[in-house]
Amino acid sequence: MAHIVAYGAGMSSVLVVEDDPNVRTALIRELSARSHVVRSVGTAMDALREVTQSPPDVVILDLGLPDLDGAEVLKMLRGISDVPVIIATARDDEPEIVRLLNAGADDYLIKPFSAEHLSARLAAVLRRSSRSGPTAEIRVGGLHIDLDRREASLDGAPLELTRREFDLLAYLAARPGRVVARRELLAEVWRQAYGDDQTIDVHLSWLRRKLGETAASPRYLHTVRGVGVRLADPDKS
Ligand code: CA
Repeated sequence: MAHIVAYGAGMSSVLVVEDDPNVRTALIRELSARSHVVRSVGTAMDALREVTQSPPDVVILDLGLPDLDGAEVLKMLRGISDVPVIIATARDDEPEIVRLLNAGADDYLIKPFSAEHLSARLAAVLRRSSRSGPTAEIRVGGLHIDLDRREASLDGAPLELTRREFDLLAYLAARPGRVVARRELLAEVWRQAYGDDQTIDVHLSWLRRKLGETAASPRYLHTVRGVGVRLADPDKS
């Protein structure tokens, strides 16, 4: 739940995805000078692995990567993460940029861009993402989750949850009504790119027991076969 962190002056982690070593070096220098923690990779596949293993606060994505088309990378990124993405493109190609913004990019920069320009875009994207991130409290029906205190209760009664159960419940409750794919849960809650479904099933069944429901007669936690899990307000579903 990295997006709950308030962004102060700098010190956000930036993942630079760029195959041109000169551009890469320049970006790392400029961003580090502005107190960002910078990591960089040169291929789309490495970028996807980085985002899964240790999610950055923002990704700067070069569109001309050697292994995958920019739109393809963006789609795959969005499949695993909500991380803000700024596209860096050498092409002043308006239809393509519009397409990528619609496909989930947060902003774009046309190369060559100045350090000041990049810095301003970065600050704006980080401000937006910290505002639009989950609030510190989540309420769905009788379920109340306090993210700061890491406490949860159901109909006023406190729930005794393990760390993982809490994270799983909070992640689902922050997206009420939406079916969350198992792959997304693995990436966002377990921070793993791969894993077996049993891990999720076991935690779900513990969580169900604590919520006083079963898979056969669900109230809050609904398994959607072959797809994932949905948390919903029982009075509304
Ligand atoms: Ca390139």
